[in-house]
This record gives sequence, structure tokens and C-alpha cells, in this order.
Amino acid sequence: MNVPLLDLKAQYRAIKAEVMSAIEAVCDEQGFVLGPRLTAFEEATAQYIGSRYGIGCASGSDALLLSLMAMGVKAGDEVITIPFTFFATAGAISRLGAKPVFVDIQPDTFNIDPALIERAITPRTKAIIPVHLFGQCADMGAINEIAKRKKIYVIEDACQAIGASQGNKRAGILGDTGCFSFFPSKNLGGFGDGGLITTNDKALADSMAMLRVHGSQVRYLHEAIGFNSRLDALQAAVLQVKLKYLDQWTEGRRRNAERYQQLFTKANLGKCVTLPPTGIGNFHVYNQYTVRAKKRDELRAFLKDKGIGSEVYYPLPMHLQHCYRDLGYQKGAFPISEKAADEVLSLPIYPELTELQLLYVVEVIESFCKLG
Ligand SMILES: *Cc1c(COP(=O)(O)O)cnc(C)c1O
Repeated sequence: MNVPLLDLKAQYRAIKAEVMSAIEAVCDEQGFVLGPRLTAFEEATAQYIGSRYGIGCASGSDALLLSLMAMGVKAGDEVITIPFTFFATAGAISRLGAKPVFVDIQPDTFNIDPALIERAITPRTKAIIPVHLFGQCADMGAINEIAKRKKIYVIEDACQAIGASQGNKRAGILGDTGCFSFFPSKNLGGFGDGGLITTNDKALADSMAMLRVHGSQVRYLHEAIGFNSRLDALQAAVLQVKLKYLDQWTEGRRRNAERYQQLFTKANLGKCVTLPPTGIGNFHVYNQYTVRAKKRDELRAFLKDKGIGSEVYYPLPMHLQHCYRDLGYQKGAFPISEKAADEVLSLPIYPELTELQLLYVVEVIESFCKLG
């Protein structure tokens, strides 16, 4: 049996007619940049998340960059985040000449450990970027308490967490801005790159809307130095169709996670494979279902041999990346992140995964563990 890590074609088959008619409508209109299609999608997404404003942009990476720019982050400033994340989180900070200051994660949720944040704060710290890794929120209560006391901004990297919530609030309104990505493999994926920022702060919203069009509100008059970062009308039209299905797809991911949990627990895998726990008060949307295994690389090869896709998100923490050697971090600086990088493996969890495929994944992992 073949079980890919993600099967975008299965999702597309189910909504093809609807998506194609939305694309055709945009082509008939020949309006591709900004305009009513984008505004409609921004409003629908803001409403879905529960934020006052939604600002479309070219990618999740740009959503982070626009947030930092609107907050006035500049060369010499420091921004706190985790080393165990996708590069874009740290890259956005560095692109402004600011310095990423890393703080280790919690071993269970893979999210920032709030107990370590305060000692990383200096007079230069302008913001914290908690990452809602794999689809569940970082401990935002604790993070916001520190940020408020220290008067620094909080930017949620919610690129993997659209639809996730903590308490009764969705990711995207738990900090000052929320950054989303519509990269095809995210829970709400476009037909290419795309991103969006949510906020309840009018000043930040106005600033980000201006920065994404070269810092201009009145054409050819530039109040700030921005750049070009828009969400295309074509992408907005596709995403508008897909947004209607997001909750249904999320339920599919959660159902699969629950099945894994039941079946793996029953299989009694002992220390061979450890399952991902959900933090208290979190509604997890499982962009990834990420287990830990001591013999991770052997397990991955075994799965591949049996036709099962898996991936290591992420094999090398940011503080050990070549491009960040000047930050001066050594191996051992963030032991929890380093251990996670050595042990994590993400398994197929996409909503269209069938019961037979899921049973097969469990069966293959069980036979791997029996090898000892
Ligand atoms: C995908 C992702 C991003 C960047 O999104 P792009 O749209 O690919 O630029 C940033 N942070 C995290 C955690 C992501 O998973």
C-alpha cells in the first residue's frame, strides 16, 4: 500500500468544479491585484479567526516581516523566538537587521517554554514570536503576561495553526498580530504562495496595509519604505472556496490523530515511539502529527521501504544553522530543541487519509518496534 505524507490531489478532486469556476471568474474579470476578491477573502478570514482586521500578503514569511516592520523593529533590536521552527520565523527578524534571541521549547508540545523567556529579555527586546508549532498554540497566557509587563509586542507565528484555539480564542487574536501562510501544505493551502496577518489594532493594520504596497496610501506618495507583498486575487478566490471546508478538514485531521492515539496506545509501543500530547486548553489542528522515536532515522527508512511517507520537521535547529554561526551559539545551548531535532518524525495525517491507510501505518510502525 502507498501512503504519502500529504495527498493534495485527493482534496482537489473533491472541490475541483467549485475552484475552477472561481478561477474562471477572476480570469473573466481580469482584476488580479488587490480589489474586491482580496477584500472579500480578508474579511471572511478575519471573521473566521475573530479578528477586527485581516491583511493579505504574499507569504507567511512576509506576514512575519510586515508585523515586525509595523512594530518598528530595526537594526540593533532583539526579537525572541524558538530555535526549533521553520527558518522563516528567524529569517524575518534577521532581514530587518534585528537579532533573533532564542529560547528553548517545552519537550512535550514543542512550543516556547514561557519559564525561559524573561531571562532572555534585554532593553533591546522589541517582540516575542511564539510559534504554534504543528498546529497547537503556545502557552499564550503566560507569554502575554510577560510581554505586557515588559511592554513588548507578541507576534503569533500561526502559519501551521489556522483554526487552532486556546481557551475560547482562535490563533491570530492571542497576540498583537497573527501570521498565517497559505503555502500548499498548510491546513488552508493556496495554489502557490500566500499569507495573511490578523490584528485587532487599527494602527498596526493600517501600517501593514500600507507597507505591503511600498508604504503608500495615496498613489505615488510614500510615507514609509515598504515593499511589494500582496495576496493575488486568484489565490484569494481559491482560498475563499477552500475556507468553507477548513473546519471539516480540521475535523478529519483530528479524527485521524485520535485514531492514531487509540491504535498506538493499544499496540503498546513502549519507549519505541512517543505520541504528541495536547496542551491544556488547546484545540490542536494537526498540521503535522509528530511523534518521537529514538531510532528515528531507521524508522523513517523502514516506513519509506513500506511505501509510507514521513518527514523530519526540523532536522537542524536555527542556532546551529551555518547562516547563524555569527550569533555565537554552541551545540548544547538549547538541549530540548536539539533532542527534538534528533527524534521527531511527522506521519501522514491529512484529512483524506483512509482508515485502511491509517491502519497500515500503525501496523508497519508496530512491526518496526517489534524488531527491538
Ligand atoms: C510555513 C511557515 C512559515 C512561512 O510561510 P511561507 O508562506 O512559506 O512563507 C513560517 N513559519 C512557520 C512555522 C511555517 O510553518
